[in-house]
Amino acid sequence: MASGYPGAMLIDLDDTVLSFDQGSGSMWMEVSREYEHRLPGVTAAQLTEAVNEFRKWFWSDPDRHKKARLDLDMARREVMLGALARLDIVDPELAEEMGIAYAEAREAVIAPMPGAIEAISAFRAVGVRLALVTNGSADAQRSKIGRFGLEELFDHIQIEGEFGAGKPEPQVYMHALERLGGKPSDAWMIGDNLEWEVTAPQRLGLAGIWLDWRGGGLPSGSTVRPDRIIASLADLVEAD
Ligand SMILES: [Mg+2]
Repeated sequence: MASGYPGAMLIDLDDTVLSFDQGSGSMWMEVSREYEHRLPGVTAAQLTEAVNEFRKWFWSDPDRHKKARLDLDMARREVMLGALARLDIVDPELAEEMGIAYAEAREAVIAPMPGAIEAISAFRAVGVRLALVTNGSADAQRSKIGRFGLEELFDHIQIEGEFGAGKPEPQVYMHALERLGGKPSDAWMIGDNLEWEVTAPQRLGLAGIWLDWRGGGLPSGSTVRPDRIIASLADLVEAD
């Protein structure tokens, strides 16, 4: 095996292997424009602002986050209802429709992150044991995994909605490692969430590698110390 790689890697899915959150803001703007004619006295820009404010609040609570990520249809409907309510519009039907329009627009633009598939194939080629470890519902995550043929790239796939627990719970990382036959001191967790993919796995003895796809660096005042910061999975591929 190439010298710098660990025996096992746990890799996050959304915004690590597949683009997901990127572009969600502009997507709401597009959907708002599409529905502007049904919003009396409200511009698409105002609606987008209301959506962005409301969804920031909505996703900020860890318990609500957990429920919502396992039922994205509900989450999108709730976000739309809340945003419309901020503009004094009560229209559950419109909220439902816009939630669906947003979901479809999001689905359409999901794509592998640049170099991600090639990087995973390179890790695999030198014998690194690989697990895909993702939060979210079985339906949503399995459909993306199938659509991009990711099953064959990993030795183990672990989805919160199937496993029954999600990151940052310790058993998530330990179970994946067990399935790979790896030990924490010889494993990396790689992903874009500082708590789920850096702090929590580091506490268990894994290296936490942060994928900073926004390119903004660590938030100011952050005490998190990733073992490595990368812009893409391709940064981890060693020249041979
Ligand atoms: Mg992620």
